[in-house]
Amino acid sequence: MTQKFKNYINGEWVDSVTKETFESRMPADWSKVIGVFPKSNKEDVDLAVKAAKEAFKSWKKVPAAKRGELLGKVGDIMVKRKEELARLMTEEMGKIMKEARGDTQEGIDTAYYAFGEGRRFFGRTSPSELPNKVAITFLRPIGVAGLITPWNFPIAIPTWKMFPALLSGNTVVLKPASDTPALATKLVEIMEEAGFPKGVVNLVHGPGGSVGNAILEHNDVGVVSFTGSSEVGRHIASVCGRTLKKVSLELGGKNAQIVMDDADIDLALDGVLFGAFGTAGQRCTATSRLILHEKIYDLFIEKLVKRTEDLKLGYPWDESIDVGPVINEASMKKILEYVKIGKEEGAKLVTGGYRYEEGVCKNGWFVKPTIFVDVKPKMRIEQEEIFGPVLSVIKVNSFEESIDVLNDVEYGLSSSIYTKNVNLAFKAIEDIDTGITYVNGPTIGAECHLPFGGTKNTGNGHREGGWTVYEIFTEQKTVYIDYSGKLQKAQIDISIEK
Ligand code: NAD
Repeated sequence: MTQKFKNYINGEWVDSVTKETFESRMPADWSKVIGVFPKSNKEDVDLAVKAAKEAFKSWKKVPAAKRGELLGKVGDIMVKRKEELARLMTEEMGKIMKEARGDTQEGIDTAYYAFGEGRRFFGRTSPSELPNKVAITFLRPIGVAGLITPWNFPIAIPTWKMFPALLSGNTVVLKPASDTPALATKLVEIMEEAGFPKGVVNLVHGPGGSVGNAILEHNDVGVVSFTGSSEVGRHIASVCGRTLKKVSLELGGKNAQIVMDDADIDLALDGVLFGAFGTAGQRCTATSRLILHEKIYDLFIEKLVKRTEDLKLGYPWDESIDVGPVINEASMKKILEYVKIGKEEGAKLVTGGYRYEEGVCKNGWFVKPTIFVDVKPKMRIEQEEIFGPVLSVIKVNSFEESIDVLNDVEYGLSSSIYTKNVNLAFKAIEDIDTGITYVNGPTIGAECHLPFGGTKNTGNGHREGGWTVYEIFTEQKTVYIDYSGKLQKAQIDISIEK
């Protein structure tokens, strides 16, 4: 029998007021239903925000170190349930088992990082410009945090947002992607088991247009954190601009790997295979462009095509599989549409480019790993985010040209350069306009204790991860303490007595 899931509001598992539902299905076999979920609306959001607002009154008073201990407990439970979460992720989202374990591990790391931050929730002290006076700053929570997440990191991304928001003393309303609602539910179950007080964590399932939008429009939501496409990000920024909410946006990418003529070719090959075809190319940091120096171009492509054709597609829970399905039919169609566009633009398709339906793949949304060569800068397949296993290869004849090509896109998330020349590596670090640069590593592989995010249309300047995510979820309070016993006037009482 199909499992029926619920929203989590004020510490209770409840149906939507609409009584309507939607299904989550397996991308590897669309005939299989994971579960049925409440298709909620604005009224459900109102109830969740009301509960979160009420719970904030006492949650903000819990010392940060104690809030952190609860997140440590969450980490411990996640460790115990890691295999179960990873297996469900292969079914609901479609990434392969190794990567699903990695996604879950990122959530565990984020929990333990937040646990530690509970005892490092520092402000600053500063001397005043006046005598017998001191200034200090505190970090304060904002209130109710509205969190809207995508499907491609269905455990990691909700933890990146929820854990620092909670550690900072906010309460949360999470709206997960409709493609991966079961995983978000499991995560919230774990948080319930860890013992968060009622109303501190709330989960509302449903469409972005109704549930997501209701969060953005709600007067009692103080901060919004969104990860998803740049298109939806623009809408979110405009609503949050109108309603004067703090908003953090982590959006699309068009990431490139440069391989210089002096690079270790086999190392660079391992990198691009993992970067381009890992998670079937559905990472925001996926390698979508490969910029090759002309001296190694032919050799590199020959080896790359061979290794790409050796990648095995199949059920993602089968440990021997390299590439799983893409998330849904619409996504597969969009990817195949880009294959058509690439051909029309004059790029040369050297492998893949079609739906793969052999063996167990017949009922799923599999796309054969695809490579276009002779791609020219400014072609649409070189500029636009495809979000699938499609790699565009561009030939360059100098380091300077490789940097120009890499930078000439609207996004600025991740980048990579393979070279043994330390001078070129440092020049690349300086000149590449992205939030993240890897040297002799693929464009993917972020770690939770470091800032994560991008330049240009990849976001609005915030960084998730590391210490920087706490800037999103807190306000600074500045306090002046005057112990002189008299009125002292800043900027006016400025003389130094002789
Ligand atoms: P999406 O933008 O379609 O959806 C993301 C979330 O926004 C979902 O929960 C969706 O329901 C919700 N949403 C949709 N319309 C909304 C609206 N009008 N108001 C409020 N919420 C709304 O993205 P997706 O397809 O889930 O994810 C893929 C995209 O996410 C890619 O562009 C990828 O690059 C990006 N991404 C970025 C990062 C990053 O950190 N920069 C990480 C992962 C994914």
